[in-house]
Amino acid sequence: MATLRALLALGNAKLGTAIHHFDLEAVSTCPGRSSLCESVCYARRGRFHVGPVRNRLRWCLRQSRRTDFADRMVSEVRRKGALVVRVHVSGDFYAREYAAQWLSVFRRCHATTFYFYTRSWRVAEVAPVLEQMAGLENVRAWYSADVETGLPEPLPKGVRVAWLQTAADDPVTGDLVFRDRPVRPTPLPGFGLPVVCPSETPVGHRQGVNCGNCGHCWRA
Ligand code: SF4
Repeated sequence: MATLRALLALGNAKLGTAIHHFDLEAVSTCPGRSSLCESVCYARRGRFHVGPVRNRLRWCLRQSRRTDFADRMVSEVRRKGALVVRVHVSGDFYAREYAAQWLSVFRRCHATTFYFYTRSWRVAEVAPVLEQMAGLENVRAWYSADVETGLPEPLPKGVRVAWLQTAADDPVTGDLVFRDRPVRPTPLPGFGLPVVCPSETPVGHRQGVNCGNCGHCWRA
């Protein structure tokens, strides 16, 4: 039976207006989560708890379990001419089979850039699929880490690290730092530090930085 509802949503306050995204419910689809990221997860608050959004995330999970998920996603990406797709504003690669469906999408949509942040690198059965994704030219793979997970070792080729800072005295490392809201006004500890997501700094916020006009995570 034909499905009229779209798998991809377009834009939000963080992404800007031109980046498509596909999302799942947070926590239950995040097998590699740390207790730290779960405790500060933005996708457990605010609009993610509004009825229509929750319903949509549950619907997306059901679609992701269908055997035709990859085929439907490929056809939607092409039909919409999506140039950039963020996989999972909320949620994660919850199983090897699901990750394999996305790998198939990435391989068939060369003209589209896909990017994602994931803690499923901590899940032994999913990690090999992520490594294959990271080797593709049109994919930007970020492994999410924090003081609880430590850095991924060894870091697969093509993967960068997004570090979550939740306390002012947390060490910061990796290629990009996301700062939990309460620590954003505090100075970073030390010199020679990785880039802080500009949309989370007061200056970037004032200047209207979003992922579309920043591009740090998906351009190169
Ligand atoms: S660094 Fe730029 S592209 Fe990456 S999450 Fe922040 S605003 Fe978006």
